[in-house]
Amino acid sequence: MIIGGGPAGNTAATVAATLGAHVTLVEREVVGGAAHLWDCIPSKAMIATGGELSELQRSRSMGLIASGTLELDALRERLASIEARLQGSVSSMLRDQGVRMLHGTARLKGPHEVVVETADGLEEVRGDMILLATGSRPRVPDGVIVDGDRILTTRQAYPPPEIPEHLAIIGSGVTGVEFTHMFSALGSKVTLVVSRQQVLPQKDPEVAAVLEAEFLSRGVKLLKGARAESIVRQGNTVRVLCDDGRVVDASHAVLTVGAIPNSDGLGLEDAGVEVGDGGYIPINHHCQSNVAHIYAAGDLSGKLPLSSVAAMQGRKIAEHMMGLHTLSHRHLDYEKAASAIFTEPEIADVGLPEAEAFAIGRKIRVTKVPFSANAKALIQGDPRGFVKIISDPATGVVLGGSIVGQHAAELISVIALAVTCNLKTSDIVDSLLVHPSMAESITDAAT
Ligand SMILES: Cc1cc2nc3c(=O)[nH]c(=O)nc-3n(C[C@H](O)[C@H](O)[C@H](O)COP(=O)(O)OP(=O)(O)OC[C@H]3O[C@@H](n4cnc5c(N)ncnc54)[C@H](O)[C@@H]3O)c2cc1C
Repeated sequence: MIIGGGPAGNTAATVAATLGAHVTLVEREVVGGAAHLWDCIPSKAMIATGGELSELQRSRSMGLIASGTLELDALRERLASIEARLQGSVSSMLRDQGVRMLHGTARLKGPHEVVVETADGLEEVRGDMILLATGSRPRVPDGVIVDGDRILTTRQAYPPPEIPEHLAIIGSGVTGVEFTHMFSALGSKVTLVVSRQQVLPQKDPEVAAVLEAEFLSRGVKLLKGARAESIVRQGNTVRVLCDDGRVVDASHAVLTVGAIPNSDGLGLEDAGVEVGDGGYIPINHHCQSNVAHIYAAGDLSGKLPLSSVAAMQGRKIAEHMMGLHTLSHRHLDYEKAASAIFTEPEIADVGLPEAEAFAIGRKIRVTKVPFSANAKALIQGDPRGFVKIISDPATGVVLGGSIVGQHAAELISVIALAVTCNLKTSDIVDSLLVHPSMAESITDAAT
């Protein structure tokens, strides 16, 4: 019995059904989940459109004269068609594996009993094993009234009713910087309210510095060290008042200040499932809650809030539920998850961050190669960024790395594989790669 059809739920459903389980999946919106409907996919699709627009504006440096105009209705159609195709492919995969799909809202009624509210009334389903994969929703600070018109959460921005003339973005984590990139590329003036002294406070300062420089060159205003205390609508404008007295008057504001888990109303107490800090469900390394046959995955589990991690948890859970766990089974190592930020330039990293190695006093070797020395980057007309590899100086084992530059989200896969499989820098150096390619900078950095 699986509640929630996002990456965690639909992956678990497909894998468990492939392994022979009778699976019922309950989803109240669409399979594919928030990831397809509001989060990963529409944001990346809008970023791709903004990226094309920026490319056109840069075309003179490629020896071309071209220009582009954004057509909001065409963009809306594009987003809808991507979502429909992805939803169709997830649904048919589930159907092909014989998963029973129920459209409705589910809650636990007991340790094995789930009640589903469907359009036809209530249905009770029993599950020997239960997976809770209900995801999360955008956090709205107390006192802020989201009107969906000028004060928005990320879910109302795909695309917003109009491209904002001046957008105030509150929060400068991954979503905040992606939105800054997206809307500045689409033509909005953007002010980013940054509560610390750097954007992406959790990231390598060198990485954040490249992004800040890019934002400033596009005319983005960074309000550093400022916390938004109130966000109010004033006619056709929005006023953001910061704790240090600074004020931003913008046409629109979007909140990118984190998420809260969808654990309320799930009937957890009726099944004896413990709820931890902030409403997340504490899990062990098999993703089991305190009730052994009830698992939790994805954003609800409070681990890394990434679609890729949610899907991998779903796969591991299905295998564990179906008794495929053996001594050689590899637990999911969240510290080895690659992640990317789809700005321009792109940012991607994996494994041990340099700052953390210093903080824990671990000896590391850090090698860094700029893309300005890479033939393909020069041919493509975009030599911004670098590859950085972190390895163990004694053994050469690759511990982590970061890439800033074109296609960083794809290129990081090489370092991610090395980190996951404990490969050495010499293994990367020995790979015969394509020339000219951006990936050559990875072998250069590993040398
Ligand atoms: C703007 C934004 C961009 C992002 N971009 C990326 C990205 O590029 N890459 C990446 O890896 N991650 C990205 N993420 C994170 C990613 O979207 C989440 O980590 C991922 O969606 C989590 O998957 P999930 O399966 O836990 O939940 P979800 O995708 O949220 O799915 C949960 C599903 O459960 C359903 N549900 C909830 N309660 C019930 C109930 N009681 N009964 C029935 N159904 C229920 C919901 O309708 C929903 O469909 C982004 C997040 C945001 C906010």
